[in-house]
Amino acid sequence: MNNQNNLVADPGMLTLARDSRGWTQSDLADRMSRVDGNRITQGYVSRAEAGRIPVRGERVHLFADALRYTPAMLRRATDTAGAGVGLVHHHKRASMGTPALRRIHATLAVTRLQVESLTQVADLQRSSLFRHIEVNDFDTPADAAESVREEWNVPAGPIDDLVALLEDAGALVVVRNLGTTALDAVSQCPPGKAPLVLLNSTAPGDRFRFSLAHELGHLVMHDEPGEGRVQEDQANRFAAEFLMPHKIILPELKPGIDVTRLMDLKARWGVSMAALIRRAIDLGAISEWHYRTLMVELSALGYRTNEPITIRREAPRHLTQAVTRLEEQLHLSPTETAHLAGLGREEFHEIYLCASSPSGHKDVPDPSAR
Ligand SMILES: [Zn+2]
Repeated sequence: MNNQNNLVADPGMLTLARDSRGWTQSDLADRMSRVDGNRITQGYVSRAEAGRIPVRGERVHLFADALRYTPAMLRRATDTAGAGVGLVHHHKRASMGTPALRRIHATLAVTRLQVESLTQVADLQRSSLFRHIEVNDFDTPADAAESVREEWNVPAGPIDDLVALLEDAGALVVVRNLGTTALDAVSQCPPGKAPLVLLNSTAPGDRFRFSLAHELGHLVMHDEPGEGRVQEDQANRFAAEFLMPHKIILPELKPGIDVTRLMDLKARWGVSMAALIRRAIDLGAISEWHYRTLMVELSALGYRTNEPITIRREAPRHLTQAVTRLEEQLHLSPTETAHLAGLGREEFHEIYLCASSPSGHKDVPDPSAR
């Protein structure tokens, strides 16, 4: 214990931990003051995060209590742990301000540390089947999607469990309530690390799947930052081909689709009716006029904002397996497991075991649970 008390918190980790909570330095100082009973100033937090004041001993515990992470988590080195934010891909629904993005990026980095700790100790790390595929004037995002399906031996037709497919290919998939509706997913793959996709638990099942396929597209095609709009479009085209391969879906879209047929196709393919209509026009299966007529009809039925036919939200299994192994085979207590992730037991359970279950986060009833 004395030994531990001499260990210093990593300044970068202090910042990352605070950003992951979405707090300013003043917010953290206020919380620390409440825990400590003495007045802690923003200036102190600022100097600690800049590494100008070493944070050791009881001070680490004070930061940890206020931030709701374990002291051990705050002592982890950000540079060697791959916790730097690096290149991050997003699937945004609305524009987001810098503080909101900072929080998401910090959440992504912290999640990576947590998941890596758990899978390492559980000895459940997997090798990655991901490889970079270049897209250019001749090789399109749809070609890339076809290649991945082929390389991963995905059976022709609808993909039943996209999360399982990615997990089996070596990706870390985590579902969390990201605390915003402006964003459905983020992903990241630093060199030499497993790809990580963080999905928002608030998205309905069909959108969730499309977002995951979209992130897969980014992870496969985009290992360097590029023009945002181009990459977004490429990721969407990849996702459309990956989830709805043209060879098989084209005949199903062709003979004059109507709303009833769209509902059947949605249930079969696990994608939204809107995505199916988009696919139909992109593949030339319907005319511009037919497309507009369908959109007007969906609007009139209120389906543009709330589609019928709920698609079950998929749940990652890899992390649950790791937790089961830690507790049942390595005999860790739930608290010890949570501490591996740098969290208290309650929050660990809420983030990693509730939100990833198919029934959804407890604060967000999921109508697709069946
Ligand atoms: Zn994107």
